[in-house]
Amino acid sequence: MTGTYPHVTLNNGVSMPALGLGVYQSKPEETTAAVVAALNTGYRHIDTAAAYFNETEVGEGIRRADVDRDDVFIETKLWITDYGYDAALHGFDKSARKLGVDTIDLLLLHQPLPSAFDTTVAAYKALETLLADGRVRSIGVSNQSPTELQRLLSESDIVPAVNQIQLHPYYTQPDWQAENAKHGIITQCWSPIAGSYTYNGNERNPFEEPTLVELGRKYGKTPAQVMLRWHLDHGFSAIPKSVKPERIEENFDVFDFALTANEIAAVDALNTGVSGSIDPDVINLTDHAYVIPE
Ligand code: NAP
Repeated sequence: MTGTYPHVTLNNGVSMPALGLGVYQSKPEETTAAVVAALNTGYRHIDTAAAYFNETEVGEGIRRADVDRDDVFIETKLWITDYGYDAALHGFDKSARKLGVDTIDLLLLHQPLPSAFDTTVAAYKALETLLADGRVRSIGVSNQSPTELQRLLSESDIVPAVNQIQLHPYYTQPDWQAENAKHGIITQCWSPIAGSYTYNGNERNPFEEPTLVELGRKYGKTPAQVMLRWHLDHGFSAIPKSVKPERIEENFDVFDFALTANEIAAVDALNTGVSGSIDPDVINLTDHAYVIPE
């Protein structure tokens, strides 16, 4: 790998490596090895969540890899069953304990809870307290629509540093990107290589997409690498998931080329406007009441 590992500066001055390893659906027994492989490849950012049920294995991977904890940007998310002020404070304790760390670099609310937005706001206020107390270095949200973001901003004091949203060439969410940018919030992209795209029965395969294949041919890169470069060229953060060491390496080998403005626009034009996942606003405490263990 050549080239410089890009970082983005969050709205409170904290520097975050733009590319991280995601671990959603990484089975616990595969997660530690994936984290070790990523850190030994050069990644310095891991994105997990309480509701992925693998924070313990992420922490184990960080301890086993050949890196100092302080050099790794650890991001996790509180689930909706831990919303409300006191529950969210306790949710932080559970995550920190499982990860085996005193401080978390970025703590997000995993989802807005439209049916009980007041508890979402109360949980966010707990994040503000954790930030003031130095237990987290930055705070943010995930899956917050422009309307939800505006409401959160009107009822809280600290602008989130990050909004983590579904974003890949087939679903670029320009209005969500724009709302984040308007408030100085970094857009962080989940399913950055369209891993979730077939969820809704969509059939396009990004790895055979002519625009991405062509650009890959030009730069000697794979379609996955072109997609990740596109995220970085936009100034986004992206957190591709893999448990395969060769793909973990491939996804990190994207710092030695850059797309032109026309090429970025050509990838933007692949947007279908069709989500590859469920509408985040349908998440609720009846169907998604996962209990996060101590
Ligand atoms: P993704 O990273 O776009 O795609 C992951 C899928 O692609 C996996 O099936 C992986 O399989 C495969 N893959 C990885 N690298 C590849 C490569 N170079 N070539 C071909 N296939 C490759 O999708 P994602 O896991 O949905 O999203 C990434 C991360 O975003 C998650 O892990 C999680 O951290 C976060 N996320 C957040 C939310 C949220 O609500 N906030 C929702 C979804 C995801 P292998 O593992 O077998 O390589």
